[in-house]
Amino acid sequence: MKVNQAELVISAVRQEQYPDERIPEFALAGRSNVGKSSFINKMINRKALARTSSKPGKTQTLNFYKIEDSLFFVDVPGYGFARVSKKEREAWGKMIETYITTREQLCAVLLIVDLRHPPTKDDILMYDFLKHYQIPCLVIATKADKIPKGKWQKHLKITKETLNFDPEDEIVLFSSETGEGKDKIWGILNKWM
Ligand code: GDP
Repeated sequence: MKVNQAELVISAVRQEQYPDERIPEFALAGRSNVGKSSFINKMINRKALARTSSKPGKTQTLNFYKIEDSLFFVDVPGYGFARVSKKEREAWGKMIETYITTREQLCAVLLIVDLRHPPTKDDILMYDFLKHYQIPCLVIATKADKIPKGKWQKHLKITKETLNFDPEDEIVLFSSETGEGKDKIWGILNKWM
């Protein structure tokens, strides 16, 4: 997709704040700092539309980015459970659960993990959660530019094993530095729309 138009429509917490448009949505899940904002920016060729920050756990709202009037990327606040209070964690969980389990326009969740390291406990929880609710999901292993190409398959294998990956799901290598995986991911999203 060649994108010319992209805007942050709303940062929502409650259901009634979600946009009314009935166009396909893709939610982005992943731990804080994994590279979700960089992913959105690379996918739509922007330098800084989705805010990138190095402070884990900063975004606590669902950020709806409308792309070309044809889809939304919904940036879900990153999980970084160790750094937030129990109360914040519960509020976060509720917000995500409500969104993911009730939103009709939600086509799939893109679970973003770091290719360099085995998925964390929180990554595994999120993947299990999506499988439990039978939400279509695509795993994106990002920061591929930080691993030599010759080691990609080894790292992918570890990622899949750690997640107890369902062979029916797809996993794609990505880099917001080089654009690796971008066309492939657009191809997969187009099939879902
Ligand atoms: P978010 O918290 O998940 O939105 O993460 P950000 O997109 O803000 O990225 C966190 C940090 O990782 C930033 O310093 C980014 O520049 C860096 N980063 C994100 N994606 C990549 C990538 O594919 N390759 C490299 N080398 N760095 C990345």
